[in-house]
Amino acid sequence: MVRAIVGANWGDEGKGKITDMLADNADMVIRFQGGANAGHTIINEYGKFALHLLPSGICHPDVVNIIGPGVALDINALLSELKVIEERGVPAPQLLISSRAQLLMECHIALDTLEEERLKDRKFGSTKSGIAPFYSDKAAKIGIMVCQLFDKDLLYSRLKANFVKKNVLMEHLYNEKPFDADEYTEKYYALGQKIKPMVADTTPIINEAHRSGKDILLEGQLGALRDPDHGIFPYTTSSSPIAGYASVGAGIAPHAISQIIAVTKAYSSSVGTGVFPTQLMGDEAEELRRRGGDAGEYGAKTGRPRDVGWFDAVATRYGCMVQGATECALTNLDVMSYLDEIPVCIAYDIDGEIRHDFPVTPELKKAKPIYHTLSGWREDVRGITRFENLPAKCRDYVAFIEQNIQVPIHILSNGPKREECIFRKNPF
Ligand code: GDP
Repeated sequence: MVRAIVGANWGDEGKGKITDMLADNADMVIRFQGGANAGHTIINEYGKFALHLLPSGICHPDVVNIIGPGVALDINALLSELKVIEERGVPAPQLLISSRAQLLMECHIALDTLEEERLKDRKFGSTKSGIAPFYSDKAAKIGIMVCQLFDKDLLYSRLKANFVKKNVLMEHLYNEKPFDADEYTEKYYALGQKIKPMVADTTPIINEAHRSGKDILLEGQLGALRDPDHGIFPYTTSSSPIAGYASVGAGIAPHAISQIIAVTKAYSSSVGTGVFPTQLMGDEAEELRRRGGDAGEYGAKTGRPRDVGWFDAVATRYGCMVQGATECALTNLDVMSYLDEIPVCIAYDIDGEIRHDFPVTPELKKAKPIYHTLSGWREDVRGITRFENLPAKCRDYVAFIEQNIQVPIHILSNGPKREECIFRKNPF
């Protein structure tokens, strides 16, 4: 079976935890897009890990982890993550890197950083990991594929061509030193040699695994609302976090994907710049931020405080629709236990009109949330393993969300640890 685990919202929904948990029974976990620009937090018997580039099956020695062709491969970031894994006593993982993935290099990080600085208050809230310059190169066909790393002459000619336009920007827009193709050739050739044993044409391997009935997880990064086509453009990312793209970015037929699990939190959170109608401010926000996630709502990549707000059923219903979600995983349910009342956004007021659809960004900026308020349950729900044992008001909250997003919630997560889950339908 092939299933995609993707975000229904702005990212940070808890996909890493759900993937790590489902990886227990999986044979293969594949990252299909994005790079080291966001983080997945997983907590298991080896401790807590903030993974950026490594697939979330990395702590399972029997799982084949794959970095697919759609990923922005920052070799330096990958090697440091692998080092952490090794130092923390995780058994040697099985990791394959697609020879068709492309390289995210230091020049991309430099350009991303310089551009955000240049934009000042018009900046996009980038994590400065080089993602937009990387995907620009890919679209312009001047990127470097992993398979081009092992031939020094080819690598040099690709870098030389790549730097022509970049160096005009470096010298004349940013007033910085130009990139040197000789220096980059030496550096990246050496890095290429380090990853060579892990490089493979992963597409036939994935397809063969599927043909022989293996259990495959496709792991998305960020969420539907960060998609360049369907999200809150321009506060989006540069690759598609949509399950439909999982097929492209991993290299497997679209009809092979039989389950799409959209992950959403019991409240909303968003890191970076963007439009976020249910955003809370002041003390209310501070309290939810402090109680959220495993150690407060702070970005796994940047440590930036995440914006937090009430659950937005309009945005999530839309996110689930564009993901093509067959089911949902609702995480961080335990976080809501402190509240007497819990508002849920069920519609937007835009210029006096009640809207149930998720509008384009200029309209979304004007959206005022319309809330339906439910009673809180004021009881710790961590440690509960059966849905029936949750307090009635907690079950009502789940049912209300389910009804409003129009997708069945099969997995509930009531704590950050791998085993803190309630299955309403056995996922295995
Ligand atoms: P991802 O990028 O979608 O994997 O999400 P992140 O890992 O960036 O953010 C999710 C946060 O929620 C992390 O701090 C997780 O440890 C935490 N988390 C996930 N599920 C739960 C849960 O059910 N309860 C609590 N309290 N924290 C959770």
